[in-house]
Amino acid sequence: MGAVIERDTKVLRGVPFLTQLILKVASRCNLNCSYCFVYNKGDSTWKGRPAIMSDEIFEAALDRMRQHCRTAGQNWVRIAFHGGEPCLIGPACFDAWCLKARQVLQDVATVELCIQTNATLLNPEWAELFRKHKVGVGVSMDGPREYHDTFRVDHLGRGSYDRVEQGLQVLRRADVPFGLLAVIPLGARPLDVHRHLLSLGCDHITYALPHFTHDTIAPVRRLYGSTPCADFLIPIFDEWWFNGSVDVRIGDLWNMSRIIMGGHSQIETLGNEPPRYAFVETDGEIEGLDNLRVCAEGMARIHLNVLTSDFQDILQTDSMHKKAIFEGMELPTGCRACPERDTCAGGYLPHRFSSARGFDNPSVWCADLMKLFTHLRDRLGVTVEETYTRRNALESMAQTGMWPFELSTDGGATL
Ligand code: SF4
Ligand code: SF4
Repeated sequence: MGAVIERDTKVLRGVPFLTQLILKVASRCNLNCSYCFVYNKGDSTWKGRPAIMSDEIFEAALDRMRQHCRTAGQNWVRIAFHGGEPCLIGPACFDAWCLKARQVLQDVATVELCIQTNATLLNPEWAELFRKHKVGVGVSMDGPREYHDTFRVDHLGRGSYDRVEQGLQVLRRADVPFGLLAVIPLGARPLDVHRHLLSLGCDHITYALPHFTHDTIAPVRRLYGSTPCADFLIPIFDEWWFNGSVDVRIGDLWNMSRIIMGGHSQIETLGNEPPRYAFVETDGEIEGLDNLRVCAEGMARIHLNVLTSDFQDILQTDSMHKKAIFEGMELPTGCRACPERDTCAGGYLPHRFSSARGFDNPSVWCADLMKLFTHLRDRLGVTVEETYTRRNALESMAQTGMWPFELSTDGGATL
């Protein structure tokens, strides 16, 4: 693993930094994954939106981002093409919009482009565009066919494994690096999944905890027991960390290791770090964290639109999104006595939700998170107390300008 440089996400000039503008350029998808939080978890806001973002909305979002960079004094931003399935916009439109993003923002900020796709529509033309515009590519893929095709189906219920694999072949042939995002297939054999994903030629993997709330988790526990995510991730961590496959970064496990060793979380799924993302839907609506859709109908909405509002207008609303995006939410009452209250900090926001108590609950995956922290601490030889000693030392160094530090593969943080 190379040097880890934390981007400065502090408040500049009194206006908080936005690290990422996530453009939901398509509100529809050619797949219909059974667990998809856009279509199949009870939220129906997508139905009232245009299928594809227009040029007008795309350019308005860029102009707002440009304005935000100027106001906040930030000089770097990531623009993510997201959906639904972003490749539904077609390669010609993607080419034009990548050019446009750099044109509009280039004199105020360095632009990093990325896309999260199901890969089923990729062909050599797309691969060439990813190379041309230096686009970071993330592909959603859940493992071997027997697991992937259980959930990731099309509108006729057919598995998508072959189509995704063809898309990955296109990327490999064109030498386009890509990462894989797998939603943990509960009950699956973890090392079968992990070795399969490694065999596909990716350069990083993220295992996402499935989206459930306290209102919906009960059947999952009955089927899979009390810690199915930890039981899936622990063998993968051991193989990854100790058996020499560390060249492929496993995002969430890397992040948890980093936190244990004293760093701050770089992924919003842990640590209650404000993500500083803004989402823009196809109709221009600015939204909070999009996967809050799993909590209740319309939960991601802020009721602002790039046609009429700047991103910093989020700060003027009394929505919980202001806190969730820019400040971090209050620690749940049930987490206050937990030894991992400042490292886990309640887990991922959608997983804290119940209709009875809102977000004032520990994560539905609390037992898994605690088991993972305990296991990783044991393997890395870092106690809770040592985490805080390291964190304090690193924060003092940051204040005196002695930064960055390198996270080494043998479990140490070298300064
Ligand atoms: S590919 Fe992504 S957006 Fe499309 S249905 Fe599956 S999870 Fe949802
Ligand atoms: S492990 Fe559980 S109790 Fe502890 S901070 Fe995380 S969610 Fe809260």
